Amino acid sequence: MPKIVKTDAEWRDLLSPLAYEVTRKHATERPFTNDDFPSAPGSYHCICCGAVLFDQADKFDAHCGWPSFNKVGSAAAPVGESQDTSLGMQRTEVHCTDCGAHLGHVFPDGPLPTGLRYCINGVAIEFRPGEASGNGTGTGTGSDGGPYDGSGTGG
Ligand SMILES: [Zn+2]
Repeated sequence: MPKIVKTDAEWRDLLSPLAYEVTRKHATERPFTNDDFPSAPGSYHCICCGAVLFDQADKFDAHCGWPSFNKVGSAAAPVGESQDTSLGMQRTEVHCTDCGAHLGHVFPDGPLPTGLRYCINGVAIEFRPGEASGNGTGTGTGSDGGPYDGSGTGG
């Protein structure tokens, strides 16, 4: 159960119409509507409850029109997954477990090392500069940024 529970009317009051439709009604924003986030260091927060979800360091340009991340911001980030079979597709939906906000979907076609692509509705997240997590988990693998064709391995 989410920690933060509000009525539809309360959410509607708090959020923009698009943010409400996306996060509370599982809508998907049109591509390239909210993909112009700054590139400065910072973190991405749930638009509904402010929880830290993703880190700028994990954002990459997937050229799909939605902000895309290689992984969640930290092990403690409240990002949950559920199976979504709507539209006749088998997809993995991701949401904020603190408040239940629908964020987007995660696909297994991202760049290494995770191979994941968190495809997130820009309207569902809020960028806050200068809050990059300083947890020393990065090991500096010396990536040269070369293109990687992450072709999936089908079952
Ligand atoms: Zn939230």
